[in-house]
Amino acid sequence: MAIPIDVEVGLSDLMKRRTARGYQQSAWIKRHSLPVISFRINMPGPVKMNHASLKVMNAGLQAVRKICAENGWTIIGSQKINEKTGPEAMICIQVPSATLLKKAMMEIENTHPLGRLMDLDVIDAEGKVISRQGVQLPRRRCLLCEKDGKLCARSRRHDLSDLMAVIEEMTHDYECYA
Ligand SMILES: [Zn+2]
Repeated sequence: MAIPIDVEVGLSDLMKRRTARGYQQSAWIKRHSLPVISFRINMPGPVKMNHASLKVMNAGLQAVRKICAENGWTIIGSQKINEKTGPEAMICIQVPSATLLKKAMMEIENTHPLGRLMDLDVIDAEGKVISRQGVQLPRRRCLLCEKDGKLCARSRRHDLSDLMAVIEEMTHDYECYA
């Protein structure tokens, strides 16, 4: 199926997708009884599926595979989901603990050149989301200023065009210099 690129989505689309994602996550955990990474892209504005978000997804999947290989963790299964609500992936990992996996995912989020645009959630074998706060790491900063990114997004502190310009630049630089 063709990827629905540059389509605007609304809150109801995102809510519907969130519900579907929850069911998919539960099904994966039930099937494998192992931690699952739910990978999504941070993309501001009404277009979630675009060339930038697809680039970030591919770079992130590479980084996940690399960190798993380095740690000797086996990827049991993975699935890409390309809906208009943005690229997503679910990855099931044979790992000694979900907390270890979360720490590795946060290393990617914090050190990868595009990590700031990646949301690598980890859900443990009981279906519980391991949060950043749960492993005592600070919330993530905004793309444009020093404040908490979630607060800037909620208050729409910045122009969408400024945010998109930064994202374009990040993904362009990554492609050219990585
Ligand atoms: Zn900000």
